[in-house]
Amino acid sequence: MRKALVAGNWKMNGRAKVNGELVAQVLAGLDAQVDSDSVDVMVFPPSLYISQVKGLAGKEIGVGAQNLCEFADGAFTGELSAGMLSDAGCNAVLVGHSERRSMFGDSDARVAAKVKAALAADLTPVLCLGESLEQRDSGEALNVVAEQLRLATEDLTVEQIARLVFAYEPVWAIGTGRTATPEQAQEVHAYLRGQLQQVDAEVAAKARILYGGSCNPANAAELFAQADIDGGLIGGASLKANDFVAICQAAG
Ligand code: PEP
Repeated sequence: MRKALVAGNWKMNGRAKVNGELVAQVLAGLDAQVDSDSVDVMVFPPSLYISQVKGLAGKEIGVGAQNLCEFADGAFTGELSAGMLSDAGCNAVLVGHSERRSMFGDSDARVAAKVKAALAADLTPVLCLGESLEQRDSGEALNVVAEQLRLATEDLTVEQIARLVFAYEPVWAIGTGRTATPEQAQEVHAYLRGQLQQVDAEVAAKARILYGGSCNPANAAELFAQADIDGGLIGGASLKANDFVAICQAAG
């Protein structure tokens, strides 16, 4: 009942020329190999390139931003608001990516404010949740992600929570080449869905929960075969057209 979603997080990579080539190759690959009825595909380029990518991507690939400011307008030098991202053609925005949390001070409170700002501008927040290696090793993974989820959504209505996409991204698996096993990922996804069930059974059943963390063509199919994994948030592998298309195919 849940349509898979594969989202490519380009992080701070790309230039106009390579973006054009990458999008063209991904489009051709999707056309040839991926059933668009069974998987939605999105990319999250650096904000400067959103308009470029939007222009090239057509209807087949949704375009989102990697970050937003929690405020609507004003004296926030260097920031971009949800309204501006929407103007540029975004449908979605990553919120709470672990790199933002650890390097740019995105606290749980700021993450919650960003989720609200995104919803107010009709953007789909892709809420990223995940534990550190230390937290996993001390048996706290489930509690950590549940608390991140609670703090990001506690002021939202059920209707608003229904508009979110979730991404479980164990920090120790991001960009490390070390992937969570399908069993480890499924355990957390099922737990998160259980937390959502306490909010609303229908919202929980429909929520798309993506896995992110060193996902690649070799491990994607097994991860996506898990009952509560509805696709992936893909970093490094989204910069290689063949790998990204293969991951999309594995989700379809
Ligand atoms: C990410 O940054 O969201 C991510 C999942 O990165 P990678 O696939 O490179 O681990």
